[in-house]
Amino acid sequence: MMELSYQSMKIAHQAREADELRTDMRKKNLLILIYHHLLDHGYVAAAVALDQETSGGVKRFEVGDNIDLEMVLMEYESYHYVKFQKYPKLTRRTADAGERRHVRSGGIKRSPGSAVKPLPKISQSASPHSRAKRTANIVHANENGTSAAPESSEFGLNVSPIKNGPAGEAAMNRKMTDGKGTIHDGVRGTGIDTDHMERLLKPLSGFSGMSGEMRELAAIISRDIYLHSPNIRWEDIIGLEDAKRLVKEAVVYPIKYPQLFTGILSPWKGLLLYGPPGTGKTLLAKAVATECKTTFFNISASSIVSKWRGDSEKLVRVLFELARYHAPSTIFLDELESVMSQRGSGTGGEHEGSRRMKTELLVQMDGLAKSEDLVFVLAASNLPWELDHAMLRRLEKRILVSLPSSPARQAMTCHWLPPLSSTGGVELRTALDYETLAKEMEGYSGSDIRLVCKEAAMRPVRKIFNALESHQDADTEMPAIQLETVTTADFLEVIAHTKPSARNLIDRYTAWEREYESV
Ligand code: ADP
Repeated sequence: MMELSYQSMKIAHQAREADELRTDMRKKNLLILIYHHLLDHGYVAAAVALDQETSGGVKRFEVGDNIDLEMVLMEYESYHYVKFQKYPKLTRRTADAGERRHVRSGGIKRSPGSAVKPLPKISQSASPHSRAKRTANIVHANENGTSAAPESSEFGLNVSPIKNGPAGEAAMNRKMTDGKGTIHDGVRGTGIDTDHMERLLKPLSGFSGMSGEMRELAAIISRDIYLHSPNIRWEDIIGLEDAKRLVKEAVVYPIKYPQLFTGILSPWKGLLLYGPPGTGKTLLAKAVATECKTTFFNISASSIVSKWRGDSEKLVRVLFELARYHAPSTIFLDELESVMSQRGSGTGGEHEGSRRMKTELLVQMDGLAKSEDLVFVLAASNLPWELDHAMLRRLEKRILVSLPSSPARQAMTCHWLPPLSSTGGVELRTALDYETLAKEMEGYSGSDIRLVCKEAAMRPVRKIFNALESHQDADTEMPAIQLETVTTADFLEVIAHTKPSARNLIDRYTAWEREYESV
C-alpha cells in the first residue's frame, strides 16, 4: 500500500514538473514569437528592448516553419468560431468609465476601435480670463510632475476659450500625458489623435460569412484599393475654404462628435464633390481620411468597370462589406460618371454586367442610409449632369469644388514656385509678380497651375543640360551649377503656351449647381 502511494506521488510529482516545464517553454516560445513579430513588422526598437530584457534569450531562437504569431491567433479565432459560432474578442480599448457611459447613451453603434470621447461642456458663465487661467494651471501642475489630472468636466470648461487666450493656446500646443491618455486630447474632446499614425487594421481572417471567391475579392480590394493613410492635411489644400467647411460639416464632425448627429441630424451617407478636373476633389477626400483616420478605399470607377467587367457587381458588394468591417471608413468613388451615367444614355445598349453593378451600388448605398455604420461614400465627378438620377438622389449632399479664386491662384504659384527653393540640391530662385500671374491664369485649375509652375521651373534646368552633357565627356571637374532665375516674363510665356483645361465648362457647373444644389 505504502509502496503504491509512493509510486503515485512520484508520478504526480513528475507530471507536475513536466507541466511546469511546458508552461516555461510556452512562455519562452511566446516571447520568441513576439520578438519575431515585432521585427517582421518594423518595431525594431521594441524587439531590441525585448531581447535585452530577456538577456539575449529570444534572439537565439528562430520560429518554426509556417509559424508566426498572427497565424497562432488566426488558428485560435477559427477554433473559437467553430466552438462558439463567433470570433473571440481578443482585445478591448481601455477607456474610463465616463467614456463608456457616453458611448452607450449616445445611441450610435460604433465600430470596435473607435472610442467616442465625451463632448466638452462649454460653460457660458466662466469668464475667458478665468478659464484661460485654469488651463494654464493644468499645464503647470503637470509640468511639475503631479499626477492628479483634473476631471473631464474640467477639461470641458477649458475648451472654448483656448482659442482666445495665449495661455490656452500654449496648453493646446503642448502635448502632455497624464499616464492615462493625453491631456491634449482630453482638452479637445475629440478622441481623435492628432498625430499622424496609421490606424491598425483588423486582419481579414475576422472577415466572415463569405465564400472563398468573395474572400479572394476582399483580398484583392485590400491589396489594391485601400491606402492606409493618404497623408493629406487640410492645410495642404490651397483655397477651397467653402468646400472644406462643407466637407467637414458633412463627414468630419459626424465622426468626431457622433452623439450630436442623431435623429434629424443623422449624418449624410453620400456626398458628391463635383467640378472641373484638377481642382482638389481627390485631395479633399484624402484629407477626410487622413484627418479622421478612417480607412480609405480609393476606387477609380472606370477601373472597376474595365478591370472587373464580369465581377464588378460582386466587387462592389465586397467593397461595402469590407468598409463596414473596417469602419469608420470612407469610400472614395472617383470619376463616378464613368459607371453611373444615366441609364440608356451613351452609345448603344448598356452592358448587362455594368447595369447589375449600378444596381448593386444603389442597393449598397440604401443599406448605408439605413444603418448606423460609420461608412461614408464620397463620390467625385467632373460631369455631374451625366449622372444617373437614382444615384444623385442617394448623394444627398453635393458640393461644388470650383476653379481656384485669384488669391488661391496666387497662393498656389507661390507654394510651387517660392522665391527660393531647391531642386536636386541646386538652388532655384524666382522673381515673380504673383499677383499679375494669378490674374493671367484666370480659369486655370489647381493642377493646370501646378503644370505651368513645373514647366516654368524646367526652363532654366533645360538650359544647363547641355553643359552637364558635355561635361560628362570631358575629364574636367564639374562646374558649380547655377540656375537662372525664373522671371515673370518667363512664366507669362509658359502661360501663353498652356490652355486651361475646363474654362468653357464653368457656366455649366454653376447652372447645374443652381438646379441641383442641396441644402
Ligand atoms: P480632382 O479634382 O480632379 O480630383 P485632384 O484633387 O486630383 O483633382 O488634384 C490634382 C492635383 O492638382 C493635386 O494632386 C494637386 O497637386 C493639384 N491641386 C489641385 N487643386 C489643388 C488645391 N486646391 N490645393 C493644392 N493642390 C491642388
